[in-house]
Amino acid sequence: MFSAWGGDVERRLRAEFAQRLVKARKGLAAFTIMAAAFGLGLGLAWNAGLFGGGAVAEAAETAAVRAEAARRAEHRAFTEAYLAHTAREMRVGSGETLAGLLSRAGASRSEANAAMASLTGVYDSRRLRPGQTVSLFFSDAQLTGLAFRSEPGASVTANRTTAGDFAAREVLMPLTFEIARIAAPVEGTLYSTAMAKGATDREIAALADAFSYDVDFQRDVQPGDNFELVFERYYDDEGNTVRTGDLLFVSLETRRGPRNFYSFMGPGDTRSDWYDADGKSARRFLMKTPINGARLSSGFGMRRHPILGYSRMHRGTDFAAPIGTPILAAGEGTIVRAGPFSSFGNYVRIRHANGYETAYAHMSRFARGIRAGTRVRQGQIIGYVGTTGRSTGPHLHYEVLRRGQQINPINLRVANGRNLTGRALELFEIERQRIDTLRQVRANEHAPQEAVLTPTRGGGQP
Ligand SMILES: [Zn+2]
Repeated sequence: MFSAWGGDVERRLRAEFAQRLVKARKGLAAFTIMAAAFGLGLGLAWNAGLFGGGAVAEAAETAAVRAEAARRAEHRAFTEAYLAHTAREMRVGSGETLAGLLSRAGASRSEANAAMASLTGVYDSRRLRPGQTVSLFFSDAQLTGLAFRSEPGASVTANRTTAGDFAAREVLMPLTFEIARIAAPVEGTLYSTAMAKGATDREIAALADAFSYDVDFQRDVQPGDNFELVFERYYDDEGNTVRTGDLLFVSLETRRGPRNFYSFMGPGDTRSDWYDADGKSARRFLMKTPINGARLSSGFGMRRHPILGYSRMHRGTDFAAPIGTPILAAGEGTIVRAGPFSSFGNYVRIRHANGYETAYAHMSRFARGIRAGTRVRQGQIIGYVGTTGRSTGPHLHYEVLRRGQQINPINLRVANGRNLTGRALELFEIERQRIDTLRQVRANEHAPQEAVLTPTRGGGQP
């Protein structure tokens, strides 16, 4: 059936085919998968003699020639069948099911049912979200296939088989590994900025953890402050982060100056920790921000609740945050009080070493097992932000007490954490240099963009 084709026709088809493939790749990579799977289907069809391969085989003398002829014929069969297809990209409407989308696209009820049935055990189509793109393929107004991105790094395709039903499978896209570096000024919150630049919850939580001892995230971090994250990242063909590996470096530059921390696991340690360039631990005796600070913004809740710093009248630090935000034990210790406490509402007080105590007020609820006498680790969740007691909006009221008197956490200068020495320090120096080299390499790659993006600090800030 292809013997009538001249060289010109084939060349034109090849060129057109290549062009359309390139276009499709640019739009939706899933399409490439679709075409590949479609090719497989045609391969089966070819073997079944559906495309009349016998005529080509007759002319072949040797096995090698036969194989080559078969390959070319299959390619033509694919090309012709491909060109006979029309592809449409549809977006899932609000409240629309996949069956609904197929019907809206003009698929018959039996086609839609067959396509849906093929997805059973491969993908739950209820996971499709409004706005998501689904590619549909038709031949002579008949649905022949569909493809969509099932999650970052994976696509699902369903194709009509030669038997007339549909077969579906999930295809994992090849992932690329890189050491990613994000360096940007804070816009809105640190959290939203880092997410927009390709970080995930993991990196942002780790950054907040590294700085929770030293930074009051609600008052110290302002729009325009700079942060940097260096982490291992795996991404798919569309540039979506599929998963992340180790976080290597975090940096935050506020009006109080820049602070850098390197991740390092010392000899004999079971997990890595944060150290400054001199090998001094980021950890302190008590945290300055005992909730996940990265989500806080300096302006959050400003209209409804004054964001108070420590003052002689106030004697505590307020963190305005959404109800339900986890509250962390600022340091290791024993709970001495957990329950309602007059105007403080739901209240927890922890006794630490050396006469220090911390208190947490207005909680919506306590974490499981939090009661007087319980030992807690630093960073353990003890309760959740609320607005119980005398409170004008959801916030955590946090107090640091020394010998029963509230003190300003800014004056808390208790060094804790381990400082690296000896062999551990030597190993740390090597790791620090490796990380700094990686940072430098990534910074140079992105230098022209950053020169434009980085605003000057200072002017316009309150
Ligand atoms: Zn307060």
